[in-house]
Amino acid sequence: MPGHLTSNTRPIPILVYHQIAMAPAKGSPFRSLYVAPESFARQMTWLKWIGYTGLSMSALHPYLLGKKEGKVVGITFDDGYLNNLLYALPALSKHGFSSTCYAVSGLLGKTNVWDKALGIAQTSLMNESQIRQWIQAGQEVGSHTRQHVDLTAANTDESRVEMELGKTELALTTGQAVDHFCYPYGRYERHHVDLAHELGYITATTTQRSRCLDRTDMLQLPRVPVLRSTSLPMFWLKVSTAYEDRRKK
Ligand SMILES: [Zn+2]
Repeated sequence: MPGHLTSNTRPIPILVYHQIAMAPAKGSPFRSLYVAPESFARQMTWLKWIGYTGLSMSALHPYLLGKKEGKVVGITFDDGYLNNLLYALPALSKHGFSSTCYAVSGLLGKTNVWDKALGIAQTSLMNESQIRQWIQAGQEVGSHTRQHVDLTAANTDESRVEMELGKTELALTTGQAVDHFCYPYGRYERHHVDLAHELGYITATTTQRSRCLDRTDMLQLPRVPVLRSTSLPMFWLKVSTAYEDRRKK
């Protein structure tokens, strides 16, 4: 098996958020993927209060390897929405937390066009200078391919271009190495895991639900979804108990 296996003794949740904004009108598709700014702020305050530190994938990596121990959670954002910069960053900064935002390198400054066919509202993605603001504020950027493709529908060459340029283009934008990947739609096959390894990605996250337990593939990390409907007691269950671990397929 390529890559490394995790060897953490304490289960580590990697939270996944999409949009930090008020949800569109009732009946709009995928309203669950919007977390209100106040809810996000409350969740971060609760994490801090209970003794957790929120970390980017780079900062979380030594904990996943078992080289560091502590009360930590990974914080990730999929797609690179501008509302992450506007509404999540203040709460992250307030508590000294870092996070990883998986951006789509070919769509910076555009919108979530891949969602159009599903009728999902179009929202601004961070442009290059906003991505740099995100980095300068102590946050991290990871790759989410170049065009938000379903890798299982792409051939080998397309997959390579998407996963490789998604990395190098963001590295050019940020002036930093881009070492972390997130499979769009959570869809991938075994050869994409091997490709992530070959391209030098250190971690890759999926939509598999669980906290990260001991001996998990670093290139197929499960996460814990936080949704619009996630109340604070539910957030506690997801972070601090085996609630999500049992949801593993
Ligand atoms: Zn996505």
